Amino acid sequence: MKSPVRRCRDVEHGRGQSSSNGTGHGTDLLQSEQRIPISKDVITAYSAPGMWFIKDACGIVGAIITWLLVFYAEFVVLFVMLLPARNLTYSIVNGLLFNSLAFLALASHVRAMCTDPGAVPKGNATKEYIESLQLKPGQVVYKCPKCCSIKPDRAHHCSVCKRCVRKMDHHCPWVNNCVGENNQKYFVLFTMYIALISLHTLIMVVFHFLYCFEDDWSKCSSFSPPATVILLILLCFEGLLFLIFTSVMFGTQVHSICTDETGIEQLKKEERRWAKKTKWMNLRVVFGHHFSLLWFSPFSRPDPGGKAETYQYVV
Ligand SMILES: [Zn+2]
Ligand SMILES: [Zn+2]
Repeated sequence: MKSPVRRCRDVEHGRGQSSSNGTGHGTDLLQSEQRIPISKDVITAYSAPGMWFIKDACGIVGAIITWLLVFYAEFVVLFVMLLPARNLTYSIVNGLLFNSLAFLALASHVRAMCTDPGAVPKGNATKEYIESLQLKPGQVVYKCPKCCSIKPDRAHHCSVCKRCVRKMDHHCPWVNNCVGENNQKYFVLFTMYIALISLHTLIMVVFHFLYCFEDDWSKCSSFSPPATVILLILLCFEGLLFLIFTSVMFGTQVHSICTDETGIEQLKKEERRWAKKTKWMNLRVVFGHHFSLLWFSPFSRPDPGGKAETYQYVV
């Protein structure tokens, strides 16, 4: 018996043309085909319930390293810089700010990692299912030959997730997940909060070095002077590296949201087949319909109302 994957071809035509469709030649006929939106239910009907988590060893290690780096920064900031500081107000204000940013960064990380990025149900491109769609003569649906799913417009197959993901931007090993239509907000917040926490840490390190140079080195930290210097230099290096990396990532993501063009589409220089919207409308689709503080909260799900137009199938 053939597996469902083997039964898949890239393109399936409507019943009126199915007999004339030779395998592998369908894509040539697609250029002039019309795009018609199909209900979102078609793609979500087979979604598996439960928590989303990608079992990829590299990604899991990347995610654990991310958390360990934040915990290292937390340790040095608290025990080397803030607790030994003489000014209580300085310690409280900076401690609160740092911990709030760290909490929001880690919460965004968990949300980006454990949210379905917009995966298309696997194996729904069976002959029976496509027949049930009652395609009109001349209409075609795209099928992914790797995961055997009906492929919506702007979806791409991820070889790590082994799924087609709607509006896939890229697969990020640091969050062990694809960045796609449903979790892009959390990913952007993650990069933003990590960039802010890195900047805040670097400012605190500079202040602490100045404080130690002015004061006695043995009194400015509960650790020995060499240990303090090593811990601070490592923190400085980590902060600088992540400030650059996450700022660039944040800028790239905001640009791709504003132009409504995913990283893959930019890379492949894909032709724009979707309607052009204003930057503000594109931002609202990702972060939520009405601008509020919830845009910056990793606990608030963006209003799905603005995403209707992305559920377009090529038929
Ligand atoms: Zn696929
Ligand atoms: Zn992926």
